[in-house]
Amino acid sequence: QFENITMAPPDPILGVSEAFKADTSDMKLNLGVGAYRTEDLQPYVLDVVKKAEKLMLERGENKEYLPIEGLAAFNKATAELLFGAENEVIQQERVATIQGLSGTGSLRLAAALIERYFPGAKVLISSPTWGNHKNIFNDAKVPWSEYRYYDPRTVGLDFDGMIADIKAAPEGSFVLLHGCAHNPTGIDPTLEQWKKIADVMQEKNHIPFFDVAYQGFASGSLDEDASSVRLFAERGMEFLVAQSYSKNLGLYGERIGAINVVCSSADAATRVKSQLKRLARPMYSNPPIHGAKIVANIVGNPELFNEWKQEMELMAGRIKAVRQKLYDSLTAKDKTGKDWSYVLAQIGMFSFTGLNKSQSDNMTNKWHVYMTKDGRISLAGLSLAKCEYLADAIIDSFYN
Ligand code: PMP
Repeated sequence: QFENITMAPPDPILGVSEAFKADTSDMKLNLGVGAYRTEDLQPYVLDVVKKAEKLMLERGENKEYLPIEGLAAFNKATAELLFGAENEVIQQERVATIQGLSGTGSLRLAAALIERYFPGAKVLISSPTWGNHKNIFNDAKVPWSEYRYYDPRTVGLDFDGMIADIKAAPEGSFVLLHGCAHNPTGIDPTLEQWKKIADVMQEKNHIPFFDVAYQGFASGSLDEDASSVRLFAERGMEFLVAQSYSKNLGLYGERIGAINVVCSSADAATRVKSQLKRLARPMYSNPPIHGAKIVANIVGNPELFNEWKQEMELMAGRIKAVRQKLYDSLTAKDKTGKDWSYVLAQIGMFSFTGLNKSQSDNMTNKWHVYMTKDGRISLAGLSLAKCEYLADAIIDSFYN
């Protein structure tokens, strides 16, 4: 009976927002969830999204079911945005793309594909990684283990450890890679390092599985943030890519994203797509229409597409400005001479502060700064005006 069901623990990321809501302090700051805020710390709906929605309303678009694979115009746009329209994999129709329930739902569908067609295959995930990755593979019954990624001594990439662990994994493993702006560390491999990662994957017949949640949002450029994925495409490898439009278009609540499976032939892509549809049908039948139409309308209209790029640069730029100010404040206030340059070296919306769990608790309990317990803060939820306050909180938490 239901009486026997025990209480589930709060989600480590979304649970932070719940605790934040309950805090009555004026000073409180929510740096837990990765959602973009304006300098006034308000949620932001992109102007280009409002324009696309207005167009859709004027056209009187309907609310019929989408096909299982989603909106055709969206699927075309999303794959082209990721790989580039001229890319061989697109030209040769080797990509099976289906619309998913944002990044999470797309990852979950790919996990179901792995469970069904690669029974026993293991997925390697970075240590650390976005907390939901483990939930996704656990629920899909896909075995996973971790590869070294973060080096606490340098607050940088443990590249040798990463390569060694990927090499040591059983041949034909899946390796989950963050396409850009690694969550939670903000530390990405360099292009040279990506090449070496691709070499090892090819040697071991591993299958790369990219999670691209921040295309265009990290650097401000859609192409630059897709360079890791495109490098693997150039090698003629087979791989998976999950995409999300939560951050780069601010469509968090629309649940719009996609899963792309790059195959060796168009024929294989057709078959893979049919199986993805077969997995999706009993899970959620078909994906939501609204976000798909927003993306398709924006990408398909040169004027709106340009506006989107400008707004994305603006968002990425605000985060970079906040990152710089936080670094400046930390350096000015810290009297120990600690080197804070890792804050500047990290990219994307997060900063991995190096604060441990009890120090993170101090941030919340004493300073009302809400963040995940792994020491991650979302700079997208920080304003220039709050940087000094945050620097005080971080320094106090580090040394006390
Ligand atoms: N992957 C990573 C690495 C993420 O950071 C996120 C968002 N926090 C997602 C996937 C998925 O988010 P969503 O389901 O909102 O697209």
